Amino acid sequence: MRGLPNMGCEVISKNSKPLTQRERAHLAAVKSLPCSVCNAEPPSSAHHIRQGDHFTTVALCADCHQDNSLGWHGNRTAWKIAKMDELDALNVTLTGLSKDQI
Ligand SMILES: [Zn+2]
Ligand SMILES: [Zn+2]
Repeated sequence: MRGLPNMGCEVISKNSKPLTQRERAHLAAVKSLPCSVCNAEPPSSAHHIRQGDHFTTVALCADCHQDNSLGWHGNRTAWKIAKMDELDALNVTLTGLSKDQI
C-alpha cells in the first residue's frame, strides 16, 4: 500500500464490473451507518476490505478511512487507539445493518 495513499476505495476502476442492484443497495445501507471505528455521524464512506468485494465493506468516516495519520489508508492511528482491525470494524458495520431488519 505504500506510495498509494489516495487509492480511494470509492473509485471504481475501469476493470471492475458494474455494480449489481443488490450491491448498490448494500453499499447505500453501509454508507447510511455511523463510522464503525469512531461512531461519527453518517453519511460514511464504504471501505472495501478487498477491492471488488462489495459485501465486505466497512462504514467509515473520512478520518478513519482516508486520513493520512488516523485512517486505514494512512498510519491507522484511530484504529490503533480503538484497538480494531478491518474484521472488527466489519462486525460493527454488519451489526448496524442487522438492526434495520429486526
Ligand atoms: Zn471514524
Ligand atoms: Zn478504503
